[in-house]
Formats: sequence, C-alpha cells, structure tokens
Amino acid sequence: MSGIETVPVALGDRSYDVVIGAGALKSAAPRVREICGRRAVVVTDSTVAGLHLDTLTKVFEAEGVAVDPVIAPPGEAQKSFTGLEALVDALTHAGVERGDTILAFGGGVIGDLTGFAASIYMRGIDFIQIPTTLLAQVDSSVGGKTAINTRAGKNLAGSFHQPRLVIADTDFLTTLPEGEIRAGYAEIVKAALIGDEAMFGRLEAAGPALLDPARIGAAVADAVRFKAAIVAEDEREAGRRALLNLGHTFAHAFEAEAKGGVRHGEAVGCGLALAFTWSAQAGECPREDAERVRAHLTAMGLAGRIADLPGGPYDARRLADRMRHDKKNADGSITLILAKGIGNAYIRRGVEADRLAEFLEDQIA
Ligand code: NAD
Ligand code: MG
Repeated sequence: MSGIETVPVALGDRSYDVVIGAGALKSAAPRVREICGRRAVVVTDSTVAGLHLDTLTKVFEAEGVAVDPVIAPPGEAQKSFTGLEALVDALTHAGVERGDTILAFGGGVIGDLTGFAASIYMRGIDFIQIPTTLLAQVDSSVGGKTAINTRAGKNLAGSFHQPRLVIADTDFLTTLPEGEIRAGYAEIVKAALIGDEAMFGRLEAAGPALLDPARIGAAVADAVRFKAAIVAEDEREAGRRALLNLGHTFAHAFEAEAKGGVRHGEAVGCGLALAFTWSAQAGECPREDAERVRAHLTAMGLAGRIADLPGGPYDARRLADRMRHDKKNADGSITLILAKGIGNAYIRRGVEADRLAEFLEDQIA
C-alpha cells in the first residue's frame, strides 16, 4: 500500500537514508524525534512556510517535536554572504547549540544555504534535508554539496557536509508550478541517460503522466538511488561524480546567455539532447539513441532542440565562449560528458572550442 522507499547513501560513519514518497514526512518523523529531540529549528523560506509549515509542524508535534521556524525570503539571492550571515545570526538567536541538528525545509536554495551554515556554525553541526522542489528531491538534497554564490559566480564558496537524513515527501510537490516540475524532471532523465538504460525505458513508457506528483515517486527513488551510488563511490568528485554533469556544460552556457531567463532544468534538458547529438555525430553513439532522447525530452515538454529552448535566440560563438570559460575546464580545452549510448556516459577531455562552435552553429541553423 504505502509507496515509501528508503534509499541508503553509504558513506561510512557519515551514511544516511533518503526516505522517499507520498507521506514520507509522517513516516520519518520518529527518526527526526530521535535525531533532534524535543525541539527542532526549521529553516525555510516564506513561500514554503506559507504553503507547508503548518503541515510540517503538526506532523512533528504529533511526534513530540516542537518546531521553531527561521524564515528567510525566497530566491537565489539568499545564497550569499549576506544571507549566510543573517541565518547564522538567526541560529544564534534561536539558541542553537553545538550538539543540535537543524532542518532545511525548502528548495535547493534553502538546502544549500542551510547546509553550508550547518557546516560552519560553531565549527559544524548536523542537519536534515526536507526538500520541497523536485530538483531538490532528486538532486541538491543528496550528496552533501553545500554552497553560496559570491560576486564572481555561482557556488564559489561552500563545503562538503552530508545531512543526517533526507526526507523527500512527494506530497509537497502538489503546490509546485508545472514548469518547476518539468525542470526538475530533467535531472531525473539525466540519471537514466548516464547509467541506467532500463530506467530510461520506464520513463519513456510512463511519459508525461509521470509529471503528476502523485505518480512521480518511483522515478524520484530511481534518480536518488543512482546519485547515491555515484556519491558513495566518489564523494568529492575526484572522478566518476563528474558524470552527473551530463548536459550541464551546455546548460551553464544557455543559462548565462538567456534573455529573460531560462530555468536550470530546462537548459539541462536541451544540454542532454545536445550531448547525445554530438556523440551520435562523432560516431560514438547510435543515432537511434540520440533520436530517442530527443523524442522523450520533447514528449515531456522539454526542449529537444535549441530553437525550442526559452531565452533564445542563442548565438553559437557566444555559447562556445561561455563553455570554454566554464569553471570546470582547465586551460582553455573543454571537458564534456558524452555518451556511447543510453545509460552509458563517459568523460571526454580536450574538446576544441572551434569544433564546438561549429556544432552549435549547425544545431541552431
Ligand atoms: P529554489 O529553492 O529557489 O525553489 C524554487 C522556488 O519554489 C522558490 O521560490 C521556492 O520558494 C518555491 N518552492 C519551494 N518548494 C515549493 C513547493 N513545494 N510549492 C511551491 N513553491 C515551492 O530552487 P530549486 O530549483 O529548488 O533549487 C535551485 C538551487 O539548487 C540552486 O541554487 C542550485 O545551485 C542548487 N543546486 C544544488 C545542488 C547541490 O548538489 N547542492 C544541486 C543542484 C542544484
Ligand atoms: Mg543540475
């Protein structure tokens, strides 16, 4: 009956569980009581507080945990030194002590900011992630990367700090705008494309019906299981974890060039299609696979072609320049994640910017 799944992230004495599905919050509440005791400081933003803080408070109170909320404004601007300072002060004000565990209740912004604050507050305290966006449930809440942005760029100050527990309750997704669901879905399909062909088959068979929060639980669990395995193998991105960047070097360029904005996940979706098209043109991946990827993305309402991506028109030369300067690239040559087929991604270093510009020119025309 209950479709709740628990996915372990195996990291020795820093191991933790991700509890996933409709009703995961209630089901995991006793563990929150064990970890936090009778009082929990919950960091959230005003949007999530307005929609879901009452629910969370009731569920925790029924378990004997009193909720003490710290509410930040919503938005990426909170992932800043200013936002961090305000949060650390609020934690002090709330009387959070060294042995306490705080909770991050919201999207990736709240998760990244709270995780980073937890990693430095009193030289480090524990935290629990309760992600409320699809992107945060399948991606940012798992793996221990925390960060804020600096004036020079995104995520330039941060730490690795694993949570004690992650609770991904898909009931929270019912209030999420459909565009956010679709954007988060790009990171789910990414997982399948990197390393799980059978999962891609299931996503393809389910189609757009999957974007209904009532039906997305199994796909969330698949994506988390996939990410958990990679993180367990390569926590600090010395190797294989870089595969999780499939589609992302393209995506970062689109995000930087978009006029009027494009969501990260929308850009990733298009980046996935491009990585497969590039691989097929290079003769490394069957053309049918690249076609399947494009067709599925289109069916899910994501851009299978650059012309369909919001924020355009895009200029090939400018995109290629952005890719050359991506912070992940050493000395001018570009690293791309490419694929030998669906579920078989690999890391390719030394891609030439000029070839990339030609390829993009061709894709835009
Ligand atoms: P977000 O946290 O800004 O959330 C998007 C918006 O949705 C916000 O306005 C929020 O208030 C609102 N919201 C949240 N939950 C809601 C709900 N259930 N119903 C209605 N509205 C809701 O954005 P995001 O997309 O969740 O996360 C993006 C951030 O995640 C970026 O800063 C990115 O750098 C970071 N990220 C981190 C990692 C990592 O590994 N740490 C990975 C991917 C992304
Ligand atoms: Mg991403």
